[in-house]
Amino acid sequence: MVKETGFYDTLGVKPHATPDELKRAYRKLALKYHPDKNPTEGERFKQISQAYEVLSDAKKREIYDRGGEEAIKEGGGGGGGGSFASPMDIFDLFFGGVRRMHRERKGKNIVHQISVTLEDIYNGATRKLSVQKNTLCERCEGRGSRKGAAQMCMSCHGTGMQVRVHQLVPGMVQQVSTVCHSCQGQGQRISQKDRCKACGGRKMLRQKKILEVHIDKGMKDGQKIMFHGEGDQEPGLEPGDIIIVLDLQEHPRFTRRGENLTMSMELQLVEALCGFQKPVQTLDNRTLLITSHPGELIKPGDTKCVCNEGMPMYRRPFEKGKLIIHFSVVFPKADFLPKNRLKELERYLPVKVDAEQPESMEDDLYIYADLEDCDLESRKRHRHQHYYMDEDDYASTGGVQCQTS
Ligand SMILES: [Zn+2]
Ligand SMILES: [Zn+2]
Repeated sequence: MVKETGFYDTLGVKPHATPDELKRAYRKLALKYHPDKNPTEGERFKQISQAYEVLSDAKKREIYDRGGEEAIKEGGGGGGGGSFASPMDIFDLFFGGVRRMHRERKGKNIVHQISVTLEDIYNGATRKLSVQKNTLCERCEGRGSRKGAAQMCMSCHGTGMQVRVHQLVPGMVQQVSTVCHSCQGQGQRISQKDRCKACGGRKMLRQKKILEVHIDKGMKDGQKIMFHGEGDQEPGLEPGDIIIVLDLQEHPRFTRRGENLTMSMELQLVEALCGFQKPVQTLDNRTLLITSHPGELIKPGDTKCVCNEGMPMYRRPFEKGKLIIHFSVVFPKADFLPKNRLKELERYLPVKVDAEQPESMEDDLYIYADLEDCDLESRKRHRHQHYYMDEDDYASTGGVQCQTS
């Protein structure tokens, strides 16, 4: 039997809870009531931490179980002289660096997007960027006044915060912390005549700064370039960072795919069949002569590549990816050759497959079917509608619509 259960109640556990159960209960409550999350629950956080401090220590827990809170306060806790450790220390002990990360205060980061071309990231580039940022006033070194002229704000005693106590019901009060009105949270006051002339006592100046942004070869769309400590300054805080984000513009000819560049190339039928040489302007203004030797053949939809003409690799700019070319083939127009000469052309082309001679068979076995142009537009439209229709409807409208001439 324990003398009292107060500490156990605070953590919401039974008096016979195992150390593991205590730990879990503390973790949950401490995170919930941590002042960073719950500034009005400071007292609660303190109680939770104290309860855990005692109950997590086997020796202290035994003393508490026997003599209650009184016994702990009387110094039975040993070493600590009866005083509790700071709730924050217990929290840190438990959670390691969590609080420090939480509390490490920095000025604001400034994020800027700059638009870059494919040429910029192929060749590398330097951009000058003008940014507006808050800097500490140099004249007063961020004090806002002559040295020693600032006086502690009497309303908040220099803390910048005011704590107001609300009585909710008799015997129950709520503490609310707000930014001190008298000093706007500065914790000090500077009389009009002592104010720094350069910043008017604001301690800060808005300044324009020119940044030189180096865009390295092979950087990516969305890549961030950091300028550590170049962001907004604020008194007592580490300055923030300026973060530049690259926004790659589309290129009329090339598309970047990782380390490769892709492009499309249109060939005339004769080029596809008999070879060609076509110039391509590179991103650094060289001219590549894309060559297909006679006898090589390019089919519509073929993809070929040129090694080492892709994007330079980031931080290894002498290595480059591939230039990938997607080919399309333009066929000649109808009637580009008189009919009698088509026979001539046919002689040079591979023989027809399945070229049965109708004459050798009875004519009425065949139904001659002429080809018409497909009206692709109306086909597309119908397809779209079919999305919302039943299959029955689909069947009744027919598949492909043919143009009637
Ligand atoms: Zn100043
Ligand atoms: Zn104040």
